[in-house]
Amino acid sequence: MVPRFSASAPLDLLEQRPARTAQRVALSFEVIPPRHDADDAKIAGLIDTLARFDPDYVAVTSSRRSGWLEGTAAFIERISYATDMRPLAHLACTAGPTHELEGWIDRLVDSGVRGLLALRGDLPEGETALPPDHLPHADALVRLIRQRETEQFARFAAGRLAVGVACYPGGHAESASPDEDLDVLLTKQRLGADFAITQLFFDAEDFLRFQQRARLAGVHIPLIPGIMPMTSLARVHRMSELSGVPVPDRLERRLRGDPTAGLELTVQLAGELLRGGAPGLHMYTHNDAELTTTILSEIGIHP
Ligand code: FAD
Repeated sequence: MVPRFSASAPLDLLEQRPARTAQRVALSFEVIPPRHDADDAKIAGLIDTLARFDPDYVAVTSSRRSGWLEGTAAFIERISYATDMRPLAHLACTAGPTHELEGWIDRLVDSGVRGLLALRGDLPEGETALPPDHLPHADALVRLIRQRETEQFARFAAGRLAVGVACYPGGHAESASPDEDLDVLLTKQRLGADFAITQLFFDAEDFLRFQQRARLAGVHIPLIPGIMPMTSLARVHRMSELSGVPVPDRLERRLRGDPTAGLELTVQLAGELLRGGAPGLHMYTHNDAELTTTILSEIGIHP
């Protein structure tokens, strides 16, 4: 197995991590199904580059822009054809009515997918809830996935589907309080979630405190920090707008003072997380192979 850290790494995180979590850092990537007019060679290069890191899985998003699950399934097919990376399909309640989601779970399983990220998806603008024929929340989707799994148990030869969910160190914009975020995460765990990936956040402390509160509340599934590259102030603002997570003053000042500091800040965030005991890193790649490679190499993770 390729070691994730080399002795010559600029940031020797392995040395600095507590002994009980040493050895191999869990590493996964998020990729976005390319649009029909995307540069094909670039996408091939992305897939090839990511595979060289030997990730634990590669998560493929699902959105209206990429044709919902048609786009997700097509990109998974391409990744699986070209590499042996394990795919994880994002599945959002917003993608369609419940019966269509059932069909999609079956189709993805039929095509060999064994990992799903169960999400509600963002509500259409101006709406406060999904239509009655849709599942209202991600917890209901976790339940539905486990139901479909039980109905087809024999197919999994004693194995199970890996079911992930989203969680929010900075709180979800619609939640009434941080307690609601923990209650929801506990419910997802009770209904069968195996792990959770976080929404972006800007301070390692936010994740580490959230992880500690979740443990105290009874959440025992791994919480995997999602790392968003903070390459420019414009991007940070865009990410903040999309996620509803405010940009800390400290970060704003630093990036205004030195527009090239983003890479260093991202690497610093990842380092603090790993030293603080995070179980691994989930890299939001934005389909940018070069940037992902640069960040990982600065962290000390090499192909
Ligand atoms: P939920 O868990 O349903 O939570 C949404 C809100 O409802 C929260 O305020 C929660 O507290 C509340 N809530 C939850 N359950 C209940 C309940 N049973 N009763 C009452 N209130 C409840 N979106 C996409 O469209 N496609 C993607 O591919 C995608 N990938 C993502 C990957 C990650 C790692 C993350 C963190 C987010 C992703 N999103 C994606 C965005 C996500 O869909 C949005 O953040 C969405 O607004 C909430 O999704 P959720 O699964 O957390 O929803």
